[in-house]
Amino acid sequence: MSDKMTIAAFSSALVVDDSRSILDYFNIILEGLGILHVFTAINGKKALEILDHEQDIELLLCDINMPEMDGIEVLRHLSERNYPGKIIIISGEHKRVIESSARLAEAYHLNIIGALTKPVTMKQLRCLLANTEHHTPAGISPALHEFSIADLQQALDNSEFIIYIQPKIDLHSQEVVGGEALARWQHPELGLIGAEAFIPFLESNELLYRLTDLLLEQAMLIASEICKTESDFKLSLNVSINCLNRYNLPDLLLARCLELGIRPANLVFEITETRLVKDFRKVLEIMTRMRLKGFGLSIDDFGTGYSSMEHLQNFPFDELKIDKTFVTGASDNAAAKAIIESSVALAKKLDMLVVAEGVETREDWQFVTRLGCDVIQGYMLARPMPTVDFLEYINSKTYRTELRIPPVTS
Ligand code: C2E
Ligand code: CA
Ligand code: CA
Repeated sequence: MSDKMTIAAFSSALVVDDSRSILDYFNIILEGLGILHVFTAINGKKALEILDHEQDIELLLCDINMPEMDGIEVLRHLSERNYPGKIIIISGEHKRVIESSARLAEAYHLNIIGALTKPVTMKQLRCLLANTEHHTPAGISPALHEFSIADLQQALDNSEFIIYIQPKIDLHSQEVVGGEALARWQHPELGLIGAEAFIPFLESNELLYRLTDLLLEQAMLIASEICKTESDFKLSLNVSINCLNRYNLPDLLLARCLELGIRPANLVFEITETRLVKDFRKVLEIMTRMRLKGFGLSIDDFGTGYSSMEHLQNFPFDELKIDKTFVTGASDNAAAKAIIESSVALAKKLDMLVVAEGVETREDWQFVTRLGCDVIQGYMLARPMPTVDFLEYINSKTYRTELRIPPVTS
């Protein structure tokens, strides 16, 4: 009874597998889970035919290795049709193959909710479906193309951009030692819009310089507020490498720090790279002078960029930030583990602090702790929050009890 109630939101499903007995098996368990209409297809072609006639199929379970049209090709066809339903991969292939297939589905912007290794149990399926919201989450940012440069220009003129802060915890002291300032657009009609919806769009535009300046000033004011009680606090800011475009930037920043009564060490610049560094010598000079003056420099999204290693070699970073794509769910992923391990080893050799972002679960937390990361950030700790909430968050110290900070197991 409770099973049926849990996932009753799905009323139709389609299973694609080249084994008749597996189709029969899923037919029974999906019906057992309360799904009213279960369709089965013995191959990819058949599945697409069914989808042509049954427009409302909400859930699709797809095998990977099938003769003629394999599951990977099915995913491509689904993407071409903009299939809006949820997808689960079910496969007996090697874990790495299943993981890559799931990643591909994401890259195709399909609504993949999980990948299960055969044999799949009813319990596994129930857990996966119960944890899935069967509707588009509220508050999703509108797509990039909906904004024009004029919209962004106007938003800048009206100072509609604000900072949200996400805490960072030091794994040695288990205290919040810093936070990352993240841009948000308070749109008068659309509400709060996340950074992904406008930053990439601004990346190739002069407006990014204006936004960076605006947020830099806001962030420094916030840092001065926090540092009244937490003098070693580090507020991190995202700066695109090509925004380091003024020779006097280190001096301007230092002067503002003095005015506000904060130290350069209270600010860390998370440098995100773009494909091309426009003026290498200028950027190198600015970064080197920023470090000389005591500002922190972090290499952001490490491992995902075009030239992470080259940047690491050239620029005087003192912090390495491992991207969330390697951290979230790392304990189940041999490649991610290897990447984190070697990033940590590299950072330690270069005397850098290692930050892991994207820590979503207790497993992620324990895993990156074991692999030697120093600081973590992620949804498990807290999501980015408005500045006032963040001030309360660090002052109350309730996170210590709320988090039940786990011991490190070896
Ligand atoms: P980022 O620097 O990699 O920032 C981390 C992103 O991951 C943030 O998204 C944050 O909300 C999200 N995040 C944090 N913890 C978790 C987690 O546990 N799981 C998952 N799945 N995600 C998590 P956000 O705020 O949407 O920012 C996206 C990107 O936009 C940032 O990625 C950064 O590159 C850029 N960005 C944000 N603010 C600024 C800014 O002021 N200036 C510039 N140049 N770029 C910015
Ligand atoms: Ca960042
Ligand atoms: Ca990142």
